Amino acid sequence: MILVGEDPASAVYVRNKVAACEKAGMRSLRDVYAPDVDPAVVFKRIAELNADPTVHGILVQLPLPKHFDSEAVLESISPEKDVDGFHAENVGALMQGNPRFIPCTPYGVMKMLESANVPLKGAEVVIVGRSNIVGKPMAMLLLAQSCTVTICHSQSKDLAFHTRRADILVAAVGRAKMITGDMIKPGATVIDVGINRTPEGKLCGDVDFETAKEVAGAITPVPGGVGPMTITMLLANTLEAAERCVK
Ligand code: NDP
Repeated sequence: MILVGEDPASAVYVRNKVAACEKAGMRSLRDVYAPDVDPAVVFKRIAELNADPTVHGILVQLPLPKHFDSEAVLESISPEKDVDGFHAENVGALMQGNPRFIPCTPYGVMKMLESANVPLKGAEVVIVGRSNIVGKPMAMLLLAQSCTVTICHSQSKDLAFHTRRADILVAAVGRAKMITGDMIKPGATVIDVGINRTPEGKLCGDVDFETAKEVAGAITPVPGGVGPMTITMLLANTLEAAERCVK
């Protein structure tokens, strides 16, 4: 795991990932760099990790400081060790329906839907957010399961019109409690990916849990919902990468 800078949320995520590795009996290395580090240093380290046969997964915690070309950093990770699934080669494979690594957050959401037996075939899905790490891969995975997928974003007109049609609603925006109960179809499955802080400093999602839980058929909490699943799928991807090496 490579962490650059002092973003407190990123530091917490990396710490949680390290702790999960330890709990699962997986060796983890954490490389922390100052916010003003020369990108060449990080590229050199990634090249070393790419070449190290005892390392099966490499993760660069995003966001990177502004003087980094994030895309170039992600592309420098060996696609076979890209356990976050962000390398263009892995994004392309997912798009073609033949994924090598599925990005951890949407992968975790798919596992939750599977374990809760939520019907997917023909379901109306609305995803709010179109980022490369959540919204877009989420859409691809649900499309592959024959859902009818709508992706909303900051320029979408009448967001509630869309969200109220959703059998499955995925919120991945980063705006505290923006999805309220009146925007949800009765009985819908609501997946809250957002991680935000209230003015009091408490963690909360993009969904207003109190009003949403009265309407939704099922809803994921924040904290304790998608977040832990994301870490779990990171470990699953790393294990898969290691298993591929011994096959
Ligand atoms: P981004 O900031 O990359 O994307 C946010 C998306 O939300 C964009 O597509 C943006 O639209 C859209 N958006 C912004 N405002 C609105 C609005 N008013 N109405 C509709 N759409 C809007 O965020 P990420 O995808 O990286 O993360 C989203 C959230 O999920 C964050 O809270 C993040 O912390 C959390 N997260 C949680 C994870 C977990 O493990 N639980 C993992 C990853 C992220 P546009 O494209 O037009 O700008």
